[in-house]
Amino acid sequence: MSLRKSATEVRQLRRAGAIVGDSLRLLRQLALPGARLSDLDAAVAKLIRSRGALPTFRGYHGFPASICASVNEEAVHGLPDGRRLRDGDLVSFDVGATLDGWVGDSAISVCVGGGTDSDRALVAAACEALRAAIAAARVGSALGDLGAAVEAVVRPRGYGVVESYCGHGIGRALHEDPVVPNVGILGVGPRIEDGWCLAIEPVITAGSGAVALRPDGWTVVTLDGGRAAHVELAVAITASGAEILTLTSDGELP
Ligand code: MG
Ligand code: MG
Repeated sequence: MSLRKSATEVRQLRRAGAIVGDSLRLLRQLALPGARLSDLDAAVAKLIRSRGALPTFRGYHGFPASICASVNEEAVHGLPDGRRLRDGDLVSFDVGATLDGWVGDSAISVCVGGGTDSDRALVAAACEALRAAIAAARVGSALGDLGAAVEAVVRPRGYGVVESYCGHGIGRALHEDPVVPNVGILGVGPRIEDGWCLAIEPVITAGSGAVALRPDGWTVVTLDGGRAAHVELAVAITASGAEILTLTSDGELP
């Protein structure tokens, strides 16, 4: 099966992606000390539905909410429950929206109340790793080039990479082929073809990249209790380069 998307299909993904971009921008504004995660979840669900879309994550393999909110040592798939954010928390928000059968998926990490130097540096490294992976995502590149780009940013700073959670193809389904690892070797792996649409999403940690699953069955936490940052953008890769599909309606990064 071809993983290539047509220009018309990419347009659909861009429309879904803008709802995700706007949702993440809203979360960035609302992620203040005292904010309750369940309220942030409800605000995003309302925004997504107001745009005629559906929150992709709700019910996905039974997931109970519209967003993932992963706080501090939580790396991915954290639950937006009744907890309140506190000054100094590092929270990653992951949002999916389905519009007319096409899916947008993107994530940001936010230092609540401004954060410490070390948390800001961790988030900056995650964003830089994501930018490097996107820069490496060209027609003809190997998928290993993307993981290598992430590692080249992250490893010299002594951070860990969570290897067991990866990016993915995106289209009518949230998770399509191919798997897009956050570690890799230059030139190794499938070659990117014109029209591939990928969600690229490094998950990096202040300590070891080893993770475990909480008994809630969803929340992935670092084994050593160190903090994690998770950022994600969906891109369409064509001969003219990698276009980000999950910008806000204003065409900005969320
Ligand atoms: Mg995501
Ligand atoms: Mg994803």
